[in-house]
Amino acid sequence: MDKPATPGPAPSLNRVTADDLTALRDLVGPEALFTDPDRLARYSVDETGERPALADAVVQPPDTAAVSAVLRHAWQRRLAVTPRGAGTGLSGGALPVSGGLVLSVERLNHVLEIDHENQVVRTETGVRTADLQRRVEAEGLYYPPDPASRESCLLAGNLAEDSAGPHSCKYGTTRRYVVGLEVVLADGTVLALGGRLRKDVAGYNLIQTLVGSEGTLAVMTQATLRLIALPPRRMALAVPFSSIERAAEAVCRLFAEGHEPSACEIMDATALETVGRRHPLPSPIDGAGAALFLEVDGDDAETVERSMLELGASLEPLQSAEPLVALDAADQERLWQIRRAIGEAVRERSPYKEADTVAPRSELARLVRTAHEVAERHGLVAACYGHAGDGNLHVNLLREDLSDEEWQRRRDDAERELFTAVVAMGGSLTGEHGIGWSQRQFMPLRFTPPALDLQRRLKVAFDPRGILNPGKVLP
Ligand SMILES: Cc1cc2nc3c(=O)[nH]c(=O)nc-3n(C[C@H](O)[C@H](O)[C@H](O)COP(=O)(O)OP(=O)(O)OC[C@H]3O[C@@H](n4cnc5c(N)ncnc54)[C@H](O)[C@@H]3O)c2cc1C
Repeated sequence: MDKPATPGPAPSLNRVTADDLTALRDLVGPEALFTDPDRLARYSVDETGERPALADAVVQPPDTAAVSAVLRHAWQRRLAVTPRGAGTGLSGGALPVSGGLVLSVERLNHVLEIDHENQVVRTETGVRTADLQRRVEAEGLYYPPDPASRESCLLAGNLAEDSAGPHSCKYGTTRRYVVGLEVVLADGTVLALGGRLRKDVAGYNLIQTLVGSEGTLAVMTQATLRLIALPPRRMALAVPFSSIERAAEAVCRLFAEGHEPSACEIMDATALETVGRRHPLPSPIDGAGAALFLEVDGDDAETVERSMLELGASLEPLQSAEPLVALDAADQERLWQIRRAIGEAVRERSPYKEADTVAPRSELARLVRTAHEVAERHGLVAACYGHAGDGNLHVNLLREDLSDEEWQRRRDDAERELFTAVVAMGGSLTGEHGIGWSQRQFMPLRFTPPALDLQRRLKVAFDPRGILNPGKVLP
């Protein structure tokens, strides 16, 4: 199987010249175009920590018209354009692997309208996800998709990756909420798709094709998102288990018995121990073989408490000690901090490579067992955690003190073996982080040649000159 292609300009694309910079400055204004080395370096990385190539320029258009003007120029000149949100991606989607322009939507950060009658919000896509959530929650409404990075990532990245979070277990991922999109095509054409509709089956579903397209089909500038009523009551609990297999078994049991937690997250012993290194863990989670973090929400305290007691009773035969219950908001926040701390804690512990595995929920126990067996076979430590209710397990392979060469070899072999096993159990290569740059060599494991070919033809239909986010998703 081939490795990621060597970074560098795609043969059909041109490098950005001094004349291009002058033309772009005239189009968007000098305050929206940057070529200083510091900014080029910062905008040429994301949270994968990789920097395969450097952008030639960063453009930060202030509105859709300016995005369109930049793309029209890039289209005519055949310049690579890498759309970018906040650069928190974990699959290298925002890396300008062919150089060219990084098109940042950070300045498109206005929430345009909260429409109570239709229960939708219309917003520009450069808004920070947590800011958008706070804006609608202040009006009693709820936008559920809550990636752990929500305080730093932008809605644009969430739309492009179909991002998810703990609450996707009950409320679904970003795509469930998108009813309208304004996008700019590769040649600069602006399209308004969908609207404030509850139902609409006219034509092919372009909105759902664009959500999750990782910046390869169009640049998303505005979105209309469905909102729901904010559930007024929540309770949370952390349940310890003797092993991750046991915790995974408990997850399957919960859903099979008809419980509907609003969050169901899992952490294995290595993940717990890694968080414990930066932030003391409460008993009985400290030292557990694994833990589940669960939340139940609803309209009133009585219903929520009853659901929580019933859920607790289901887990009792499998848990290794009494759960930790969080009734009020402050206790719940402390409990969720443990789960949210894992990304940073892993990064502090060691360089790592994350495989964003996903399998049918019924296969969760097999998935966690396989992840640990594969890591062990290749002499690697794995910290596993994730959105158990969605069958989505982040397998973090840790480098620890391996040499560059050894790490590269073991990690590549382990990842390939893991993804092969995941696909064989009916799973996929990524649940929420995207294929981007880092995973595309695994696409033939998941798709047959005709299915890959159809995706290539879809890309050509949207972007026949191949200027948008070249080198991503398709091998
Ligand atoms: C600590 C941490 C925790 C995380 N937790 C989660 C989690 O719980 N769930 C989850 O799903 N992800 C998570 N992520 C991954 C990441 O935050 C998400 O993928 C997020 O949606 C990326 O948003 P961004 O604005 O940073 O996008 P970027 O990283 O800038 O870009 C991501 C992709 O979107 C494309 N893109 C950006 N803007 C546009 C646009 N306007 N139009 C078209 N394409 C565009 C880019 O080209 C790229 O392919 C986490 C990351 C970190 C570092």
